[in-house]
Amino acid sequence: MNFFSKILSLIKPYWVNGLLNAVFNILAVIFSVVSLTMVIPFLRLLFGTEELVDKAPQLGISVDSVIDYFYYYLSKIIIEHGRYDALFFICVLVTVLFFLKNLCRYLALHVLAVVRNKAVRDIRNEIYKKMLSLPLGYFSNEKKGDLTARMTTDVQEIEWSVMSSLEVAFRDPVSIILFLFAMLLMSPELTLFVLILLPITGFIIGKVGNSLRRYAELGQSKMGDIISIIDETLSGMRIIKAFNAEEATLNKFKGESDKHSNFLISMYRKKDLSSPLTEFLGAAVLVTVMWFGGKMVLSDSTEIDAAMFIGFIAIFSQIIPPAKSFATAYYHIKKGMASMQRIEEVLQVESNIKDKPDAKVIDGFSDKIEYKNLSFVYENANTEIVLRNINFELRKGETVALVGPSGGGKSTLADLIPRYYDPTEGDITIDGVSLRDCKLKSLRALMGIVTQESILFNDTIYNNIAFGKPDASKEEIEEAARVANAHDFILEFDNGYETNIGDRGGKLSGGQRQRLSIARAILKNPAILILDEATSSLDTESEMLVQEALNKLMENRTSLVIAHRLSTIQHANRIVVIDNGEIVEEGEHEELLNKNGLYRKLHDMQTFA
Ligand code: ADP
Repeated sequence: MNFFSKILSLIKPYWVNGLLNAVFNILAVIFSVVSLTMVIPFLRLLFGTEELVDKAPQLGISVDSVIDYFYYYLSKIIIEHGRYDALFFICVLVTVLFFLKNLCRYLALHVLAVVRNKAVRDIRNEIYKKMLSLPLGYFSNEKKGDLTARMTTDVQEIEWSVMSSLEVAFRDPVSIILFLFAMLLMSPELTLFVLILLPITGFIIGKVGNSLRRYAELGQSKMGDIISIIDETLSGMRIIKAFNAEEATLNKFKGESDKHSNFLISMYRKKDLSSPLTEFLGAAVLVTVMWFGGKMVLSDSTEIDAAMFIGFIAIFSQIIPPAKSFATAYYHIKKGMASMQRIEEVLQVESNIKDKPDAKVIDGFSDKIEYKNLSFVYENANTEIVLRNINFELRKGETVALVGPSGGGKSTLADLIPRYYDPTEGDITIDGVSLRDCKLKSLRALMGIVTQESILFNDTIYNNIAFGKPDASKEEIEEAARVANAHDFILEFDNGYETNIGDRGGKLSGGQRQRLSIARAILKNPAILILDEATSSLDTESEMLVQEALNKLMENRTSLVIAHRLSTIQHANRIVVIDNGEIVEEGEHEELLNKNGLYRKLHDMQTFA
């Protein structure tokens, strides 16, 4: 979609306001032209060069007949009341016209405010919605900071540059045309001089504008790098301090900051050139017009008299500000185009993890999940194979544990069940249906996931537990918290369930956070449970409480458990040992110990450590 059709599609829902804006702008320009032409009768009156019209002209709808009638009316005032009253009449008329002009200008902006802000709101919502629909693979691919920059600074850029230019785009061409029209009526010959210069000016401005856009693009992507560093620093503050890495981090940040500011310097220099450039070009035309027009007046040309010439200059001088703001808007739009481009890039990403048109709704889990000859490679990574030829089954009601050295591919294997990624080769089926043929929502509705790092949100305890089931009753929430061994500690907070847990649950201990994650999973009541090192980061005491909660959660469900500590999974129905992307052993605890293989080795290491 090209830039202008995108902008048009954004403002389309608010077309009524856009239309009203155009109408008010046209009215404002008309009032402005009329008030400025008043300078002509005013001067003629002062110089005593007016010709009195004592016969009423035919009142038609052409500009000429309106002017004729105005002169007739003015002559009548002069004849009946004298020149002073005529002067007073003109002054009152000009005041009224200016008032109306400014009223219309205000009204035009008033209705445009809706278009500007709602269009920006829409694009922000659109990109957020897109972000939620993107596959997980995308987020390791594109840096988070880059995405944040696109969502914040780029959207803001659109608001500032493009939307503020909207008004100009609606108003200024109309103003310029109407002013030119008035000038044409006064003196076609002089107007021609003005028209010659416009394309020349346009060309010069266009040259500078193109390089501006390039700088704007680079500048914004540098901003993404800066946000990445800020984000990383904020989440890694403990480590930065512990390793005394403040200085190194600062230097890294300064480096990026410098690059960004250098781009901005070049960009603003280009942009700042626009205003002096147009002003100078405007003055050059003005002088040319004064030279030719002045000569015509001096040579007593019949086309234009002194008063008319001054009127012409007055109107012409009014063309310069809109022409200038039009040029500025052009720069802004060039800058905004870069941002729009970056936003479009995100909006255009096609999620490869999405429902097929005839996707099947899975309304329960009755038999088994099966991995069939599955291989997997992360698309973004350096093509190293992560899982190789995996075949195994997770039958209903079973607890299967995945163990093995870290980096072996256990988490990846688990991530394939909620279809965070699609297998590179082979397939996974649930009750015989390939995951690719299932409706994602219905598939994920069956699953509860508890990971090593509890992902909680900056909200109340209540809302964090209710996350996957917003319509849950208070009793259900409390029951879930009880089962998860969380109820007691929650009540110890002054605000109980209404306590806000801070950013990522920062006000809670690791064990407390984990029990909230478990309560959240219990409330969802999933048929299939995926526990990815759910107790690994806890101390022994919290681990006991959490393990107890997990055991209750796992009752009567089908579970896939990734565990580092083998003691927690001895009672699993089956243990699958994964090393370097392959299943190397599979069986019950005792059976595997007797095999004297990798499991035995891992077990002995932990037991005798
Ligand atoms: P485990 O859970 O057994 O520790 P993982 O499944 O986390 O192993 O990782 C398996 C391999 O895949 C590792 O080599 C890791 O570097 C790689 N990996 C994990 N996640 C990603 C990702 N998002 N992008 C690219 N490579 C990844």
